[in-house]
Amino acid sequence: MHVQLLREIEEEITNLLSDLIRINTTNPPGNETQAAKYLAETLEKDGFKCELFESAHGRGSLITRLKGTGEKPNLLLLSHLDVVAANPKEWSVDPFAGLVKDGFVWGRGALDMKSMTAMEVMVMKLLKRNNVKPKGDIILAATADEEKGGEAGAGWLVSNYPKKIRADYVINEGGGLAIPINGKNIYTVQTAEKGILWFKVKAKGRPGHGSVPGAADNAILRMNKVVEKLGNHRSKISLVPTVKQFLSEIAKENKVAQQALSLLLQNPELGDHILDQVAQKDKAMAEEIRAMLRMTIAPTIIHGGVKENIIPSECDAVFDCRILPGQNPTDALDEIKGLLRDVDLEKLGFETIQANEPSESPTNTPLYEQIINVLKEFEPDCSVAPILLTGGTDSRFFRKMGSICYGFQPMRADLPYGEILKMTHGIDERISIENLVFGTSVLYNVVEKFMT
Ligand SMILES: [Zn+2]
Repeated sequence: MHVQLLREIEEEITNLLSDLIRINTTNPPGNETQAAKYLAETLEKDGFKCELFESAHGRGSLITRLKGTGEKPNLLLLSHLDVVAANPKEWSVDPFAGLVKDGFVWGRGALDMKSMTAMEVMVMKLLKRNNVKPKGDIILAATADEEKGGEAGAGWLVSNYPKKIRADYVINEGGGLAIPINGKNIYTVQTAEKGILWFKVKAKGRPGHGSVPGAADNAILRMNKVVEKLGNHRSKISLVPTVKQFLSEIAKENKVAQQALSLLLQNPELGDHILDQVAQKDKAMAEEIRAMLRMTIAPTIIHGGVKENIIPSECDAVFDCRILPGQNPTDALDEIKGLLRDVDLEKLGFETIQANEPSESPTNTPLYEQIINVLKEFEPDCSVAPILLTGGTDSRFFRKMGSICYGFQPMRADLPYGEILKMTHGIDERISIENLVFGTSVLYNVVEKFMT
């Protein structure tokens, strides 16, 4: 059977997304329960039994399941219900009105990620309506708290109700947006994400009067060396499988970057030199790629001193360090301490604020294959590339329990690519109705073909 766009769902999915946007789930505080209850109500109309789990009052996550015949694999369609804050003064429309205008649904969450929630709910409804009998179970989970780290949502469910959401495969956010190159689309699938190590350094010294600097030991000067060292450090380049595959796919389609990227793939140790040259033409792309090649460290907060004429004995700075799949937060901190050996290490204190493991899933799986096949049916000349996200998603909780996770929210860039990226967590976030229909059609076909 040939694939086609599911035009008939246009109005239904538009309303679904509009309604979800109108339920304000800005996190903090979240209030996801209201959105979870709304989803339960609409899913129950199609005969689904839904379960609501609250990690705390108002912090609800919804789970439902289409039973399979008991064969493998199981598949989880995952999304988060919370959104980041939106300042109405900066927007050209009310971010929580769920406005439909000029062929787009506008509002906070239109991209990240209530549109995906709506698509996944729509897929579940269609499977039921079409009387599809999947082999394994198809589970839908719409969870709380992703925007604050997921510990009160997906992380909490994985710890407390693993049986409810354990699946061999997971489809979540983080990829799916097509990169347009020379009139062709490269669809992305998020197969890896970096880990987080947020840490604080405390530099100690000896206080003194500001008029006699030599008699004191200024903690700000000590911290200055720390910031210099860490902020400018370029750690060892390492090409993880996702990045290798991503760069080769881009090189195939983008003739301009081809030479540089092929050189980089063969000589990763020359990566910075090559990217410095790419940066002269396309700074954004070069820095995006540079962050995929190594652990990065960025100073983000600094505090020191209390009065104009007192030399401070303490200065604190916070660093945002991101580590690659294969690295871990403990080794990363050891490496960082090693860099500071000549900055009087005994006068520095270290404190880990938050540490999340990086994660990666392989691409040689039947689901990845199915994604490629369906996309090519819709768009024969497109290609597919795995991506490493420098940020994080809830997928890490599921990869940790052994699931293969793909970030795949299929979308075409029907606004300039850079503009779409900026709208996530930015102003005037919106998605075209065309993309809602396209994304649902692709997802439905992937799920239906993969699970039967
Ligand atoms: Zn998100």
